[in-house]
Amino acid sequence: MGVLARNESSTGRIVLADGTVDPSVDRLLRNPAFLSAIANRFALADVRVLVGTVVRDQVDIPSFAGIPGAAYAGQLTVEPEIGQAREDLEQIAYYEPNDGFYPESAIQVTLAGPYTLRSSTINAITGLLVIGALVGLAVAVIVAAYLARRFTTPLRRLTVASREMAAGEMAQRVPTALAETGSVEVAELTRQFNAMAVRIAESMEIIRRDRDRSRDFLADVSHELRTPIAALRTFNDLLREGAVEDPVARDEFLEASAQQIDRLDWLSQNLLELSKLDSGLLQLDLRPDDLRAAVESAVQQAEAAARKRGVALSVVLPDRPLRIRHDPLRIGQVVSNLVGNALKFTPRGGTVTVTVSSERTGARIVVADTGIGIDATELPYIFERFYRGSRSNEARGSGSGLGLAIVRSIVDMHGGRISVESRLGKGTTFSVTLPADPRSVAVGTADRAPVRTHVTDVEESSPADPPL
Ligand code: ADP
Repeated sequence: MGVLARNESSTGRIVLADGTVDPSVDRLLRNPAFLSAIANRFALADVRVLVGTVVRDQVDIPSFAGIPGAAYAGQLTVEPEIGQAREDLEQIAYYEPNDGFYPESAIQVTLAGPYTLRSSTINAITGLLVIGALVGLAVAVIVAAYLARRFTTPLRRLTVASREMAAGEMAQRVPTALAETGSVEVAELTRQFNAMAVRIAESMEIIRRDRDRSRDFLADVSHELRTPIAALRTFNDLLREGAVEDPVARDEFLEASAQQIDRLDWLSQNLLELSKLDSGLLQLDLRPDDLRAAVESAVQQAEAAARKRGVALSVVLPDRPLRIRHDPLRIGQVVSNLVGNALKFTPRGGTVTVTVSSERTGARIVVADTGIGIDATELPYIFERFYRGSRSNEARGSGSGLGLAIVRSIVDMHGGRISVESRLGKGTTFSVTLPADPRSVAVGTADRAPVRTHVTDVEESSPADPPL
């Protein structure tokens, strides 16, 4: 601009000696086409030109002093290109030709409001940023939803399963594969839930089995009591209807009634005994006694019945005392029940042998007979309450099916085992093994009525086998 002005000057000066602008320069700058051309073609901004002089202060520091009326302007009028926009900026530059004249000329050029790409660039970047942020947000939402679903699905299944269990649906489980997709804690919680569900189902099954067993037991008891009571009522009716006049018939009915009363008494004693054994009300009187004494005394008590039935009853005992910790009364009851059965199911002329022997871990009592034997299909049931074999025939009528149940409970309470071997028509052998000390053995089994030993002692006379 300064060079153009100086070239245009007719005097070679921009500012004349009298402090006014050279007329040629003034004309050039006032020409609207000139500054507008610079504004539109080169500067792309409004151009303002102020012609002045350099003024120096005392310490020779120069400053610009504009000449009043020497201000020129050229407006930017061309249309902006795509993306360009006016910028609110102003840039001032000075030109000092230093042409050696006084006063020294100077030109101040101001470029204002230029076209730039800045705002469109900022807009573009802002747009990109907004799009980027939206995409990021969308990805975050999708990932969060996926993770939340992954973690909450097992929890939701747990909630559903526990609700259904509370409603009585005990087969509910949460698939472990599903739990593994969640956090470690949720997987662990699911495993614990499933384990708890299995335990609850098992407990329910045990309770259900106990309930069924109690129901069956009650039905059996009612049935067993009804038979002798019906017989007694019949005898009573017959006696009232006139049989009392006939001494023979009267004695016969009274004898039959006495037998039924004995049976009722025996039945009630056995039931009481069994319920005490099962409920744990009965505590064993364990002492380190000679086992031979308990067995021998039980066998002796059965000798009269054996003679009556024509069956040879013998006992084989070890020479030396066999001291094991046991309840002599209850073990006597075991032997007495087993021998009673053996005599009952052995025809006249047969033999029943009771053998006691010492074992490494305790003792063994074997009751063997040469009787009718037990069918293999019936063997698994003979220890159940009220079970009576189909082949027991006439002997069956005198039994109640409680004897072996009592035997098994007493053996269990001693921490022992009972087993049976039988061949139809050949005979049966019951084998009872007892530990030297029941306290060293875990007593009771889970799959049947619990038998406990640590409850208040109730001294009870051992019910004898039914009248044969
Ligand atoms: P019960 O009072 O009927 O004898 P138990 O519980 O003592 O009841 O016996 C159950 C069933 O087991 C008997 O009815 C019988 O069928 C069978 N049983 C028990 N002991 C013998 C045996 N020594 N010989 C043959 N069968 C036997």
